[in-house]
Amino acid sequence: MNLSTSIEEIPRVGPQYQKRLKKLGIKSVRGLLFHFPHRYEDFSNIAPISGVKLNESNCIQGKILEIENTRTWKKRMILTQAIVEDKTSAIKVVWFNQPYLINVLKEGDFVCLAGKVALGEGGIYLSSPAYEKINLKSEILNLKSSLTHTGRLVPVYPETEGLSSRWLRFILKPILTELKKEILEPIPEKIRIKYQLPPIQKAIWQVHFPDSRKLAKAAKERFAFEELFNLSLIVLRERQRLGKERAIAIPLNLKLVKDFLKTLPFELTESQKKSAWQILKDLEKPRPMNRLLEGDVGSGKTVVAAMAALNVAKSGYQVAFMAPTEILAKQHFKTINELLKKFNLKIGLLTGKEKILRQAQDEPNILIGTHALIQDQVKFRNLALVVVDEQHRFGVEQRARLCQQKGYIPHLLSMTATPIPRTLSLTIYGDLDLSLITELPKGRKKIITKVIPPENREGAYNFIRKQVKQGKQVFVICPRIEPSEVKGKNLSWAEVKAVKDEYQKLSKEVFPDLKIGMLHGRMKTEEKEEIMKKFKNEKTDVLVSTSVVEVGIDVPNATLMMIEGAERFGLAQLHQFRGRVGRSKYQSFCFLFTDSPAKKTQQRLKALITSENGFELAEKDLEIRGPGDFSGSRQWGIPDIAMASLKDIFLVQNSRQAAKKILEEDPELKKYPLLQKRLEEFRSRIHLE
Ligand code: ADP
Ligand code: MG
Repeated sequence: MNLSTSIEEIPRVGPQYQKRLKKLGIKSVRGLLFHFPHRYEDFSNIAPISGVKLNESNCIQGKILEIENTRTWKKRMILTQAIVEDKTSAIKVVWFNQPYLINVLKEGDFVCLAGKVALGEGGIYLSSPAYEKINLKSEILNLKSSLTHTGRLVPVYPETEGLSSRWLRFILKPILTELKKEILEPIPEKIRIKYQLPPIQKAIWQVHFPDSRKLAKAAKERFAFEELFNLSLIVLRERQRLGKERAIAIPLNLKLVKDFLKTLPFELTESQKKSAWQILKDLEKPRPMNRLLEGDVGSGKTVVAAMAALNVAKSGYQVAFMAPTEILAKQHFKTINELLKKFNLKIGLLTGKEKILRQAQDEPNILIGTHALIQDQVKFRNLALVVVDEQHRFGVEQRARLCQQKGYIPHLLSMTATPIPRTLSLTIYGDLDLSLITELPKGRKKIITKVIPPENREGAYNFIRKQVKQGKQVFVICPRIEPSEVKGKNLSWAEVKAVKDEYQKLSKEVFPDLKIGMLHGRMKTEEKEEIMKKFKNEKTDVLVSTSVVEVGIDVPNATLMMIEGAERFGLAQLHQFRGRVGRSKYQSFCFLFTDSPAKKTQQRLKALITSENGFELAEKDLEIRGPGDFSGSRQWGIPDIAMASLKDIFLVQNSRQAAKKILEEDPELKKYPLLQKRLEEFRSRIHLE
């Protein structure tokens, strides 16, 4: 066996377990060893039986005096009862519905048991403890480290159904013992020493079977450092590469800009002006622009992008405008057409299904579309600018491909409303230039946000009806149902069910007098389009939907956003939903429903009520929930452990610093073949583009 041995070849791992491991994304021995615990159970203090504490976790060691199975009087449950004795006293132990235990634990065995002490009719007993046989020799020598499941800091792993932490420990420990020596250190020695990182072999042992919390923490930090270091290296090298590329310089046409501004029915906000200026200045350079335009929902990014597109198009070059979904591509198509209608440009739309445009005979100045835009059939004559909405990363590689080796690459303007915590953007975007739109257009009213207690649901529905009678429209968002609640079912079907149920309820019982629409990700594109169109054209009053409405959809007449199961969404995401309303001069509302009494939920929803700033909320979410849940992590494919460390600004800065240093000395990393190899793997794992 070695690190790349596949899990099928690991002894003692049967087909069932192979399947479960794969569900966790574990395919090889390496994957297994790098499946880290997310917490530890502290059973390190072994107490004398005479000193156990009621209702608390206790770990004891002793000899089994007797053990037997009995049935409870209702005969519903099998109890395994044992008496365990040490030098100080004896205690009753009870396990529920694990009759096989009497084949594992026998009279006379020495065991270590860890679990809660409860009070029953016959006195106190140890309830369903974790157990582990110990051989006497190690007990006498007090070799704690020979214990795996008790008597130490015990690792608890992110589990999947039928794959317990106990089983993982049981499989993992002997493999780790055998193969530890094969795990080689990819972090350059001097960096490791400078930042006091434990060597990888020590760290991986301490992550799984720590001798102390301190050592476990240092080990985890070492791996987090490594991931962040890799991420920084990739981002910085991409930057290096970009520095060598050329782009088409687009002279700033001030008259054109002024003409454009005159056509707008409103004045730009200060930060729109500033961002537009930064972008237009970048475009003048023969070096590729690499800019992120970050602005809260409704802050008016599209106008800014349209200005840039206009300048490029009027200079005789092409612009590609990419949106994440067809609905949004069409919306952009409409908006851009509207914004630029006086300028006599050919604007095309290209999505997966319909090719409105036959590019060969009808070359557009601006081509708007989905991912279909970067497919090979699309041949741009002279593409000079790519605008991407909500895609986060768009690599140099992809940009070059769009220009087909013409010796230059397009400028890139990436737009996002996803508020990204500072630490995260520093790492992911590296030195990407940033333009921020910090204020909303004038005249917008603050959206009134409320958590509606269950007993006021009726009242909320009455309020909705009143809004609709005034001609306004309403969104109802239903959460996704967690997979654990719908065993074996496909997740997106579960979402559909939630939406369908809610749709039924609202259209049949609550609002039989109103026009209700339904939208979910399982629908065909045309169907979705149709439903959105109906809603936009005010043919429906209430739209019940999954999170597919999350990004970018603009329906100014919608003034009420109602969110069911609000606890299931991240703050940033809730804020995105809320941004679907409040897009006009009318007062808008956001109603949050939750069944969760959890303090964290209350805390988070309160943050949403008090803050209307997406960036602030993203930071808060990070603080309250921790980064594992941060909405971006999935999207970016950033490893959990790196995500978990983004809170630690020092770690982020240090790893970045280290990456910079090493690249200055050795830009191609020639001296570090192992690091190179790891970077390759890392690159294929995350999808930065
Ligand atoms: P987002 O940044 O979320 O993409 P949009 O570009 O969709 O925002 O703009 C939201 C709405 O605000 C649009 O209807 C747009 O016409 C309008 N808008 C943009 N800028 C301004 C402004 N300076 N003043 C008033 N309305 C504006
Ligand atoms: Mg937008």
